Amino acid sequence: MLRLNSSLMIVTDLDGSLLDHHDYNWDAASEWLQRLKQQAIPVVFCSSKTAAEMIPLQKRLGLSGTPFIAENGAFIAFNGEQIAAEEPGENYLALCRSLKTLQSTFRFSGFHDFSDAEVARFTGLTLAEASQSRLRDASEVILWRDDSEKLEDFRMALAEHNLALTQGGRFWHVMPAGCGKGIALQQLQQHLEQRSGEKRTTLGLGDGPNDVPMLEQVDYAVVIKGFSKTPVILTRRDQQNVYHTAHAGPLGWREGLDYFLAQPE
Ligand SMILES: [Mg+2]
Repeated sequence: MLRLNSSLMIVTDLDGSLLDHHDYNWDAASEWLQRLKQQAIPVVFCSSKTAAEMIPLQKRLGLSGTPFIAENGAFIAFNGEQIAAEEPGENYLALCRSLKTLQSTFRFSGFHDFSDAEVARFTGLTLAEASQSRLRDASEVILWRDDSEKLEDFRMALAEHNLALTQGGRFWHVMPAGCGKGIALQQLQQHLEQRSGEKRTTLGLGDGPNDVPMLEQVDYAVVIKGFSKTPVILTRRDQQNVYHTAHAGPLGWREGLDYFLAQPE
């Protein structure tokens, strides 16, 4: 059993994990969020969402100022500043230009190709949220419209541009090669250690294939029941530190924290 104290750090995916896959609510998690706040345990968002989406969300959840990992690891924020990746990738517009050249070979559309209203329509986000989701720094969200067999060719074509493909809960994401939630978390942990000299025990929660590198990296992993057709398979050997939830979304999030952190009264 993990101790509920301030040397702990929670690292969490958002859509389908802390937030409901359909309506983005976090009701079932709010009691735990309150308890973690009382214990000064940071809750670090680690998601495909953009910084522009995460900052207002942090505010609504009472987590302002906490470090976060945005765009699947392509963007890390610490004390309101971006931690530079060791090898900064192309910026967003350059990445979109690279993608444009591939649109003659593969059928797909990116958030860059849509309006805020269109993104709102197919994500269920409000117009303001859709606009924030389009304020991207380092990665692109794409809707794949081609045969799924062509994905491997697409992946190889991306590699020639030093780009990589990862699967989120709803969409595919294109990001600079060598990024990911796991590497980003490592960088954030190193940064925290340099600043505070303390190594925190990490508990991670996620529901999708793009969470795998993060769930392999944390000390304790909660695999939340998800909607993705691709199962979340971890190769780590310490299966006693991995818990698979029966519930999806924020209910599963609560279940995972109950499993590792519930204190015997
Ligand atoms: Mg997810």
